[in-house]
Amino acid sequence: MVYNTSMAIKVCSLGSGSKGNSVLIDNGRSRILIDAGLPARTLLTRLEDINVGLNQLDGVLITHEHNDHINALETVARSVPVYAHDYTMQAILAKCFISLKNQMNFSGECFSIGTFDITAFKVSHDAVYPLGYTISDSDSKITYATDLGYCSKEFLRAAKGSGLVVIESNHDVDMLMNGRYPAYLKRRIISNKGHLSNLACAVAINELASQGTKKFVLGHLSENNNLPELAYWTNADYLRGKGADIGREIKLVVAEQRCVSGFIGCD
Ligand SMILES: [Zn+2]
Ligand SMILES: [Zn+2]
Repeated sequence: MVYNTSMAIKVCSLGSGSKGNSVLIDNGRSRILIDAGLPARTLLTRLEDINVGLNQLDGVLITHEHNDHINALETVARSVPVYAHDYTMQAILAKCFISLKNQMNFSGECFSIGTFDITAFKVSHDAVYPLGYTISDSDSKITYATDLGYCSKEFLRAAKGSGLVVIESNHDVDMLMNGRYPAYLKRRIISNKGHLSNLACAVAINELASQGTKKFVLGHLSENNNLPELAYWTNADYLRGKGADIGREIKLVVAEQRCVSGFIGCD
């Protein structure tokens, strides 16, 4: 795979889904991971597949402390600084060791890592302080939001001006409701502190597209209650129904659990 040499921000999912999430953000000058939720060996192998070493990372930015976002963090944090909100860092430290020098806590909304300007925004999810992020440089802006119970005004406001949005398309409601999960878990997933369904994702994308974003990476698909094709077509059909020209005007890419997505840019 060709390493990213362009200056605009590109994302490369190392794996996304209910079994673990990690995305590389790269503009050719700086590179960070958002979350390190894959098993450590998988995460390291997939970084190798795209010719990126841990020593080339400027940081790992954590959205929240659930295991599917921090599974490999102890390994990654041996050599990479960990950026997490104060409350999230406390929750992480209860589960894994991170040396003091690699604990880069923050409490405000805006900070930088390398050449990236980061803005954090709150999302509704059942973790101590779950966040989504916008990442921008002088050329481009992207937004990352998985694990969100609903599409809030705050999320839409933060994402404005993004060329690309990574957004959760977690489950198909029928598959979830007819599936084998216990009632309490179904309630948790569909609650406004759970996960976005395919249809809820489509409604959110329609809003994001109306404010200018043209490219969307669908992520955090449920292993048991979704399929990549179903996520894609539920989103595409809904957006076509709203008049979008899918594949030309609006582009959708599904980030899968089992493979690297390749580098995805804003256009
Ligand atoms: Zn979560
Ligand atoms: Zn998650």
